Amino acid sequence: MARRPFWAERQDVPRRGIPALEQLQTLRGMVDLLPEATAHWQWLEAMAREHFRRACVHEIRTPLLEATDLFARGIGEATDVVGKEMYSFLDRGERSCTLRPEGTASVVRAAIQHGLLSQGPQKLWYGGPMFRYERPQGGRQRQFHQIGLECLGFADSRSDVEAIAIAWDLLQALGLTNLQLELNSLGSQDDRRAYRDGLVAWLQERQDQLDADSQQRLATNPLRILDSKHPQTQELLSLAPNLEDALSPASRERYEQVKAGLSALGIPFLCNPRLVRGLDYYGHTAFEITSDALGAQATVCGGGRYDGLVEQLGGAPTACVGWAMGLERLMLLLGQENKPTSSPDVVVVSQGDRAEALAVPVARQLRQLGQAVEIDLSGSGFGKQLKRAGKSGARWAVLIGEEEATSGQLQLKDLSSSESRSIALGQLAEEWPRL
Ligand code: ATP
Ligand code: MG
Repeated sequence: MARRPFWAERQDVPRRGIPALEQLQTLRGMVDLLPEATAHWQWLEAMAREHFRRACVHEIRTPLLEATDLFARGIGEATDVVGKEMYSFLDRGERSCTLRPEGTASVVRAAIQHGLLSQGPQKLWYGGPMFRYERPQGGRQRQFHQIGLECLGFADSRSDVEAIAIAWDLLQALGLTNLQLELNSLGSQDDRRAYRDGLVAWLQERQDQLDADSQQRLATNPLRILDSKHPQTQELLSLAPNLEDALSPASRERYEQVKAGLSALGIPFLCNPRLVRGLDYYGHTAFEITSDALGAQATVCGGGRYDGLVEQLGGAPTACVGWAMGLERLMLLLGQENKPTSSPDVVVVSQGDRAEALAVPVARQLRQLGQAVEIDLSGSGFGKQLKRAGKSGARWAVLIGEEEATSGQLQLKDLSSSESRSIALGQLAEEWPRL
């Protein structure tokens, strides 16, 4: 007897919220990318890939599913991502698994697991879907896409500058000019510890003036309070001890070097002493690139230095810097501009039994020559087929009627000028127009 699938056996699993078959839809916060959108996505991904190639950054691909412990240890239990946003479940072997909410922890795990760091510093990029159980809204989904850069084994302040410049220049190359780069230094671990103690003591005296979220963070992740979007908390924070004042001379000097490096490249930035990243493993440089055009979800790219992470995940102490960019937010900014078309180069039109039999092999040959070829399989008259070919945006139409099928001389019509000439079936490769 065939085994019933596991979800049919699990009668205890509540079926609430799962609609009847005929209404099946994507889960909340999960988005289909339809063909008109994927052309644009492919363009964006190709731009990023080329940009990384020029920077000699190599691609790494890691699984979407990892042990939950990787993120718990790598991101930190006190963060929103681990505390509230992860898609975690037990697999059939009762292991706790999580759909990756971000890329850094996985890249670091892979680098340690495969001994990449023993081969020297690594400049790696990744791209793909990430999963966070958040409230969906403009620029915020539950499955979203990031590209990210991770430079592992780089301590020099010039690597911070290079990493930021790679992000900035990619955004410029995409034609996004109206962006702000905000910069901060979180200092060394010691700086941060001293500052955190001072901040907590100061805020504890004013706890009743904090919003509920921030009150909770006071115990779990106090630096994140600096990042609060709550207006009253923000007002209070303007009077709080300043992170910049807590930096040691060495940290301050490092911060100055990063600023000088960016200035030398002509990359404008704004120092924001309240910028802290949501993740625990950041120190020294932290940055975000934001746009006013995105409303509440303003951050397109966020990153910084995470010197403590490799060691935290079981590797040797390794200085690292990196960033991640949200592609949905990039898409919102790109809007309709730069939209590439997905028109065919050629449409093959044919009429009559012998001609129609030739259409598929001719299209195949042209595809082998590198052309994007559409075949009109409608069986409608030549006139209708040609009209459709004209509308398709294709440059060429190849016409095959009974006469062409018999003579082996096809008609090649330039749809931009309406000029036609014949082209020999056996000589397509030689006679195809080179533009
Ligand atoms: P936010 O403050 O917007 O929640 P974050 O600090 O959680 O961002 P990171 O973990 O730094 O974000 O991720 C890097 C980038 O990935 C963000 O700047 C954003 O562009 C994008 N991103 C993060 N979460 C989402 C999401 N749920 N939907 C779409 N894009 C996202
Ligand atoms: Mg977030």
